Amino acid sequence: MLDEYIDNLRDDIINETCNLINIPSVSEETNNPAMPFGKYANDALNYVLELGNKLGFRTKNIDGYCGYIEFGEGEKLLGIIGHLDVVPSGDGWMTPPFYATIKNGKIYGRGAIDDKGPVIASLYAMKAIKDNLKINYRVRLILGINEEKDWKCIKHYKEKEELPIIGFSPDADFPCIYAEKGIATVYFKDDYSKYNEFPIKISEIDCNNNAINVVPKTCKVSLYIDTSKISLTDVTNFLDTEIDTLNFDINYSISDNHILLNSSGIQAHSAHPDLGKNAISPMIILLNRLFNKFDYHINIFEFFEKYIANEFDGKSLGLNLTDESGSLTLNTGRFDFYENFVQIGINLRIPVNTNIEDVTNSIVRKCKNYSLETFVTGIQEPLYIPKDNYLVKTLCDIFNKTTNSNLEPIAIGGGTYARAFKNCVSFGANFPGDTDMCHQANEFISIDKLILSCKIYAKAIYELTK
Ligand SMILES: [Zn+2]
Repeated sequence: MLDEYIDNLRDDIINETCNLINIPSVSEETNNPAMPFGKYANDALNYVLELGNKLGFRTKNIDGYCGYIEFGEGEKLLGIIGHLDVVPSGDGWMTPPFYATIKNGKIYGRGAIDDKGPVIASLYAMKAIKDNLKINYRVRLILGINEEKDWKCIKHYKEKEELPIIGFSPDADFPCIYAEKGIATVYFKDDYSKYNEFPIKISEIDCNNNAINVVPKTCKVSLYIDTSKISLTDVTNFLDTEIDTLNFDINYSISDNHILLNSSGIQAHSAHPDLGKNAISPMIILLNRLFNKFDYHINIFEFFEKYIANEFDGKSLGLNLTDESGSLTLNTGRFDFYENFVQIGINLRIPVNTNIEDVTNSIVRKCKNYSLETFVTGIQEPLYIPKDNYLVKTLCDIFNKTTNSNLEPIAIGGGTYARAFKNCVSFGANFPGDTDMCHQANEFISIDKLILSCKIYAKAIYELTK
């Protein structure tokens, strides 16, 4: 009966997913108290809350930071935690990233799978239950708009609002996630004024404001060459040979005494650095070698080439750790030049049985040896719930039954809102075997799977609250 009811909502689910994709809700941190995460994130929140109202739910906007949509009665609260903000589009799109396009049974657009489609599927799953069945809980869809950045939305929620006693987050993979790696970001910076006398000078670094949790697609560096001290031809000859030998996807152009280097990569989620191609790493290696070639040394570049370079497993840092939740991964997500500092940021996904501080301390110690200042941020403790736990088992069983499969819960490197709440795990909406499109160009959700997830979520809500 539920399935049929949801099939009849198919067009609404598709249309509302598209409407939401059309709002370019990249979270920006502003000083405007009315919309702390910028106009578009705010528009997305208001749009979904308004939709919640239209569908007959209670809704609340919590100071522009987040919101919720609720139904049901009773003491107990089930939480479904999703987000409406998205990572920037990046390029490489074949359709407009912020204009939903339906093609071959798929909806293309930024946020289609992360997390707009799954949020709409959850909302209509709630509607299906509200209109058809009796439950003993209140069910609340909690909506954040700063998930892809600092989670300030969900922190605000936790300070101000009731915490669910059980829940799931439709923001990762089916069948169900029982472990999420720990997360940390380490920034290290070098005082560039020490190098101001060098005849090769960095004048600009531009990585298109890449998010730390994204494998960077582009990195441009502009160098000024003091031709009274070294010859431009020597520099370009070196670059030609080095780029060729290392097989780096870097090209350059020259104007007057400036060389503009341009590195290209492939964007991916930083929890899966192996699926992308980092544009920053080869650039720093090349710069290090260029300075070395003329007998100049820049600490932060020396450090980078020795300990990180093109690796994403932390091997040279001595951090290539693995447990049942997988291996440590590392993404060089930021490379910045400002106020006479050069700064690099790396994002780490740390296996559940490893202490996060042990990892960050070991990096900080190595940085100190190179006189680099460090700053550790974005720590998220791992999530680990035993596989035989009631919630994990129930959700996994629902998925297996609905899809006629027999899969075990899994561990991931992505950090979802699930870890922000006790007794909460991530549940869909990526299906086993599907390419993980989240944070990538040409992100999409298959329409059949969008509808199927809605059915799975409806069953989950009912099973957990009946
Ligand atoms: Zn997400």
